[in-house]
Amino acid sequence: MSSFIDELNDAQKAPVLHKDGPLMVIAGAGSGKTRVLTYRIAYLMAQGVDSFNILALTFTNKAAREMKERIAHIVGASEAKNLWMGTFHSVFAKLLRIDGDKLGYPANFTIYDTQDSQRLIASIIKEMGLDKDIYKYKQIQNRISSFKNSLITVKAYRNDPDLVEQDAMAKKPRTGDIYENYVDRCFKAGAMDFDDLLLRTNELLTRYPDVLMKYQNRFRYILVDEYQDTNHSQYLIVKALADRFQNICVVGDDAQSIYSFRGANISNILNFQKDYDNVGMYRLEQNYRSTRNIVNAANSIIGKNQNQIEKVVWTDNDDGSSIKIHRSTTDAEEGRFVANSIWEHRMQQQMTNGQFCVLYRTNSQSRAIEDALRKRDIPYRIYGGLSFYQRKEIKDVLSYLRLVINPKDEEALKRVINFPARGIGGTTLDKLVVAANHYNRSIFEVMENIDRIDLKINSGTKRKLQDFVTMIKSFQVMNETTDAFALSEHVAKKTGILLEFKKDGTPEGIGKMENIEELLNGIKDFVEGQQEIDEATGSISEFLEDVALATDLDNDTGDDDRVALMTIHLAKGLEFPYVYIVGMEEDLFPSGMSMNTRSELEEERRLFYVALTRAEKQAYLTYTQNRYRWGKLIDAEPSRFLEEIDEKYVENLTPVDGGYRYKSLINADIFGEVDKSKLRQQKPVRGTPPSISQPNSGQLKKLRKIKPQLSEPVGNTNKIDPNLQEGSLINHTRFGRGKVVKIEGAGNDRKAEIMFDKGDIKKLLLRFAKLEVI
Ligand code: ATP
Ligand code: MG
Repeated sequence: MSSFIDELNDAQKAPVLHKDGPLMVIAGAGSGKTRVLTYRIAYLMAQGVDSFNILALTFTNKAAREMKERIAHIVGASEAKNLWMGTFHSVFAKLLRIDGDKLGYPANFTIYDTQDSQRLIASIIKEMGLDKDIYKYKQIQNRISSFKNSLITVKAYRNDPDLVEQDAMAKKPRTGDIYENYVDRCFKAGAMDFDDLLLRTNELLTRYPDVLMKYQNRFRYILVDEYQDTNHSQYLIVKALADRFQNICVVGDDAQSIYSFRGANISNILNFQKDYDNVGMYRLEQNYRSTRNIVNAANSIIGKNQNQIEKVVWTDNDDGSSIKIHRSTTDAEEGRFVANSIWEHRMQQQMTNGQFCVLYRTNSQSRAIEDALRKRDIPYRIYGGLSFYQRKEIKDVLSYLRLVINPKDEEALKRVINFPARGIGGTTLDKLVVAANHYNRSIFEVMENIDRIDLKINSGTKRKLQDFVTMIKSFQVMNETTDAFALSEHVAKKTGILLEFKKDGTPEGIGKMENIEELLNGIKDFVEGQQEIDEATGSISEFLEDVALATDLDNDTGDDDRVALMTIHLAKGLEFPYVYIVGMEEDLFPSGMSMNTRSELEEERRLFYVALTRAEKQAYLTYTQNRYRWGKLIDAEPSRFLEEIDEKYVENLTPVDGGYRYKSLINADIFGEVDKSKLRQQKPVRGTPPSISQPNSGQLKKLRKIKPQLSEPVGNTNKIDPNLQEGSLINHTRFGRGKVVKIEGAGNDRKAEIMFDKGDIKKLLLRFAKLEVI
């Protein structure tokens, strides 16, 4: 037997060596599911299965790349070359480029990202004259997306009285019309949104049996990671493709199903045994990732869920240290704690930044963490916020490139037709849109024929439109003979975008120019990288496809050493030695929007399970007593999840004997934010003031019963002396006397950092702070 098989335990070997036919591995976090999938592919290839016949579907492209590298390492790079491996979206985009013409799509169709879809929906709502406060474009986009993921076409929608009724009840009776317009417009623009990549694949496989057969024969072996989070559309594709040979291997963990809000359907796992005959069922129990404390703590949490498949997870790893819980007074202090802790671990245990990860429930929590990391000079990278490719200046350049490939692309065209400004105004664009709808053509086609249509556009503007068309066409000609880099550089210059930012001269403008430069560098790397891969040519359309489907996890080349910041949802499947889960507060985690039903709460709990099981050596859970949310300072309550962990495995970091105050002074000291000599004058305080003592679990329970309240009234109710300055002595209605240490920001954002006599240092937004100068 090949030696690489010996890198697995017996329970893992069984599914890897399973003969043909369907099999499923259900197992808890860190037990080697992804490893089994990877090794099974290598094993199949070692047994002589052609890589051409294997399809592997993963949760991120990064996971796919890593798997491919591992497989290449085991069986050789050239063997692994033909593997189709990637996310559902990237794999089926590839398939649709080959066969989508049968559905009327060009091979060079554009992929609309969420922002493109939302912009298009917003403009349709406007064109239809609907009230944008009722028809909120983001909500409508969400709803359309959920239709598509359940394969509800416009026609199916109209024929479903329940759905129609739901929208009517929600005072949005025109939802179906918006949906229809949206589908039409995307089609006319030669564009697919993310959901289309699955929906159209389904359509193709259902309507064209010959196409289905072609891919059934090709993909004799299908493997799916994170099966618990597949949605209905994905499920149907897999089912159709696997139907002929039934060599389907899925791995997953029902306890980590966290995407039901996006239509993921846990019953796909539960029904697997009904869908296929003679399913090989495997379980893995040994966790290789985490310390025993972490594994046991995670088990104690997930045990609280009623709906789950019974599982055992244990580990042979060391106990490790207990899970640390830290409470702070404000989110800024929470950030400082995280930054300090990372800094200390780095020094004491010789760790690199990349070994740390900070996880949060919502993207907006990253700001306080970022501020603290920056102050400590700790490099970090945020995943999942506004990605590089969504920045305005980058999207502008990319939009020109998209037009080169597909001039029908309406969203790209609207973005850049008047950027940089060339005197084509909103009214002209409106006329073009109306004409395009009327003639059932794309806007670009209308522009090409502008001389032949009477749109009441003056001759000067007409010439500008024609110039634009000519410019795009000249790029197309150039694209025939040059590579993506040369073309992009030419486009950035010729369109005037670079010049626009250069003229701007502000730091922002220069930043934008640098970003464009970074984009061009990226394209250059891409071209050089692609030319080494056989099938690829390094063309601009390949680059755009890569960009459209890239999540920013994918852009993590691991070259530079940074702390990772991301939402828990994004962290699925990943692992880090040190993990900080911040914002462990009621209404935040569990989310205030997911506490209405038991099943919602159970999903939040699964999310917590996912978060905790990312940690290899050490997990920190932090919460704060006050947090700015929606611009207001609110009293936060500790998350119920903190109590749910078996207390054997946790340790409260905040000392009970007055050390807390001391600690916050030390933090301030390290950051050099207050004058040290003044700190020394502070007398040490014995005993902990009640307001900042560590609550015991009884108190925690009581705390939770109290509804969160706004601790600060809305609006400008403070009595600040306009002369408030560093050194001013103030009195705060709640926190008492203090001294202003620092003032920053201006206008509504003006903040003061105040050291209160009680020992806390707080940063207060002056707009809300109830204080007066004394
Ligand atoms: P998750 O549920 O979080 O996706 P998983 O079940 O997919 O986890 P893996 O990521 O495959 O688990 O494995 C977790 C870690 O344990 C990885 O670092 C993996 O390399 C390691 N591991 C798994 N099995 C073994 C083994 N038999 N020997 C050594 N290391 C292993
Ligand atoms: Mg995994």
